[in-house]
Amino acid sequence: MKNVAILGSTGSIGRQALDVVKAHPELFALYGVSAYSSEAAFLALVEEASPQVAVFSRPVPDTDVRWGEQALLDLAADPQVDVVVLAISGIAALKPLLSALRAGKRVAIANKESLVCGGDLVKEALRQGGGELLPVDSEQSAIFQCLQNGRRDEVEKLILTASGGPFFRKQREELRDITPAEAVKHPTWSMGRKISLDSATLMNKGLEVIEAARLFDFSGKKIEVLIHPQSVVHSMVEYRDGTVMANLSTADMRLPIQYAMTWPERAPSPAKPLKLWAQSDLSFYKPDMDRFPALRMAYDCLKAGGGCPVVYNGANERAAELFFSGRLGFLDIEESVAYALDRFRNQPMHDLSDILAADGEARRLVDEFQVTRS
Ligand code: NDP
Ligand code: MG
Repeated sequence: MKNVAILGSTGSIGRQALDVVKAHPELFALYGVSAYSSEAAFLALVEEASPQVAVFSRPVPDTDVRWGEQALLDLAADPQVDVVVLAISGIAALKPLLSALRAGKRVAIANKESLVCGGDLVKEALRQGGGELLPVDSEQSAIFQCLQNGRRDEVEKLILTASGGPFFRKQREELRDITPAEAVKHPTWSMGRKISLDSATLMNKGLEVIEAARLFDFSGKKIEVLIHPQSVVHSMVEYRDGTVMANLSTADMRLPIQYAMTWPERAPSPAKPLKLWAQSDLSFYKPDMDRFPALRMAYDCLKAGGGCPVVYNGANERAAELFFSGRLGFLDIEESVAYALDRFRNQPMHDLSDILAADGEARRLVDEFQVTRS
């Protein structure tokens, strides 16, 4: 029996992780949960699931709920916890990730921003604590599974699939007036609003290119992106003899969440089985980097290293906030990220304070972009 802590339990991934825990009482017990701003939803969840430890961002009077950043880091490193599901969104997940890895936990990681920004610091924490990092992001879970079929030196390339988002068929000029409501309507997955927006700008795929490089230690040259609108093939690995291993399933995040928790075992899944015969078509296209420059910027940042991936992420996080509050347009998101990257003076990231400083600088530059635009 494994004790599970779900950090970011009120979110899209967090709730699906709860489903997985509930579906397997023989394997998992819910030990801890955390949330940030949704107080009523969190208290209802705590009442229903009755974990041992609940952590919120601020005090909740007349309850046993712990609060604040230190309480969150303590839950991530709690000696009672075996598996941490990291379902917090944004760079806010970086400190809890380091805390869990240094304490030697298995981390089932959905959050990609912390991997993109954390770089070598994450590797170091993994080495120090002797923990395990298991991907939840569907593409990375697919690559992880496909990589089990050959040796590392036999790998020709990793092929990440992308749905292309809701605007895959639109021309660039048609994207200018996209509203937040249109941007978060994802064609194949139901997800939190920030990652849904990232899927529409292709920032999500850019982040995933860097995430894959971090997780599997391959350079950008070995990572390719293919648009695959049906989201049935979750990603592939091409080996040097020309064989391509692919991972297919229904688009249900409970599957990769569960696999990250049960690996190397597999357990029956709450997800529906894949009915390939009911699938009319599986199609693949090369991405158009001119229409969606977010992807090209990600490859450039990966190559440049240092603080560039941190700025790519931080600028995008800030631009997403400004887009949702109506202060930036849809195309301004990638333009403001490019603006921040152009002005950032790149340097190596030695520690957490370097990373947080680069993140802060990225956000400041996006605010500057917004002011000059308005
Ligand atoms: P949601 O926005 O639905 O949920 C985010 C969760 O994190 C909520 O529980 C939220 O709490 C909590 N949270 C938000 N900000 C903070 C903070 N500053 N400190 C601590 N906790 C915080 O996001 P998703 O579930 O969609 O995504 C979570 C992560 O997983 C992201 O990194 C995303 O890229 C990744 N991912 C998601 C997929 C999906 O299908 N949704 C697929 C693949 C990856 P509260 O609600 O109380 O504010
Ligand atoms: Mg993904």
